Amino acid sequence: MRKQIAAANWKMNLTLDQGIKLTGEILSGNIELHDHQQVVFGVPFPYLIAVKDKIKEKANYFVSAQNCYFQKSGAYTGEVSAEILNSVGTDYVIIGHSERREYFNENHQMLAEKINLCFENKLKPIFCCGEPLSVREANEQNDYVETQLKESLFHLSEQQLTGFVIAYEPIWAIGTGKTASSAQAQEMHAHIRNVMASKYNNDVAESISILYGGSVKANNAKEIFSEKDVDGGLVGGASLVASEFLTIIQSLK
Ligand code: PEP
Repeated sequence: MRKQIAAANWKMNLTLDQGIKLTGEILSGNIELHDHQQVVFGVPFPYLIAVKDKIKEKANYFVSAQNCYFQKSGAYTGEVSAEILNSVGTDYVIIGHSERREYFNENHQMLAEKINLCFENKLKPIFCCGEPLSVREANEQNDYVETQLKESLFHLSEQQLTGFVIAYEPIWAIGTGKTASSAQAQEMHAHIRNVMASKYNNDVAESISILYGGSVKANNAKEIFSEKDVDGGLVGGASLVASEFLTIIQSLK
């Protein structure tokens, strides 16, 4: 079975003390994860080492950065490279979140470069894609997402894409309380898998974990995750509340 993942995206929230307390509360939920299940904490850069230390005894718990820079190293004041992230024990990196695409003008090419740097530095990318409301209303979401995949992932090898992680996050559902229906999520996830199968092959497409993101909560996770092509979720707001996130973890297939 491909990996089923509950990934938290704390965004720019919580102090270090609050983040460590939240991590502790989630760990003390003592959820028995199966081998194919993972929990990922997407935390602000300064907390990576502390959260990694907190989860170190626990199998199947990982720490993620929320971004990395698209250049290898050098005079880029304030930026953080994939190499730096690897050196502090980071496991995953969220790449191309819609907030980064929108507020920091990240384009397809930059995201492709970031993914390359993740691979060079043994980091696992979580590649985000998803359409804005205007595109959904024009019913052009399939082409829109296909372009995002094509422009940032199609240069990768079959080997690199085997076991890869994609998060489908319709922008109109992020932080809005408006969730895609489980049928809408399934439809897009199946489309993403078909796009990957057409460019590569079925084995590669079937190995990719496709997470849904967009107002996943304790009360809707089970239904959304039960869809055939939904392999867990990337969770913003609800990942900041231990009881909510614990229920979301328990909703993994
Ligand atoms: C996200 O941050 O990627 C996200 C999906 O946020 P929320 O769960 O708050 O909609």
